Amino acid sequence: MAEIKRSGQFVVPGEKIGVIEEFIPDSGTYVENGVIYSKSVGHILIDSSNRKVIVYPLTRGPCVPHVGSVVVGHVFSTQSAMAFIRIVKVGKRFLSGFFTGVLHVSDVDVKYVKDISDALKVGDLVRAKVISEVNRTFHLTTRGDNLGVILALCSKCGETLTLKSKRGKGLYCRVCGNTETRKIASDYGSGNL
Ligand SMILES: [Zn+2]
Repeated sequence: MAEIKRSGQFVVPGEKIGVIEEFIPDSGTYVENGVIYSKSVGHILIDSSNRKVIVYPLTRGPCVPHVGSVVVGHVFSTQSAMAFIRIVKVGKRFLSGFFTGVLHVSDVDVKYVKDISDALKVGDLVRAKVISEVNRTFHLTTRGDNLGVILALCSKCGETLTLKSKRGKGLYCRVCGNTETRKIASDYGSGNL
């Protein structure tokens, strides 16, 4: 009989924790041929009252967007019907690596948008929601008041665009006077990411 692990002991993925005769495997564990192994890097927690064994992860898993996640990203490319967005933040967490999001023109707004460049442009910072994921490509939507462009740059001079009025959706450039349209989030310009 192999040594039984104790609460607080450090384990790595694939490390043997015990057997199912001894413990009831719970979160952070998996079972193969009656043997309980750790699924993550972390510490064992044995709940002796009900014999449950848990591995409490030391680090949370890599931060990956999921369907329903609210993400923030930079528009790095547009075509007439699509915008490609480099996701830099998921929920409250900034990413070290990045994921690519695709926003189709039909998912930009509740109202009809003819060309994606009427709603967002390369360089804009956008808040969006993940609606589906296929092969690590995240399909996004900016429908909804809190979603859309949160910071836009003037396409003539590169200056940050300012809201024309608090209630309006039009944007203008303080430097060159250029006016542009975007599908903006309700808190555009507030500095919120
Ligand atoms: Zn300008």
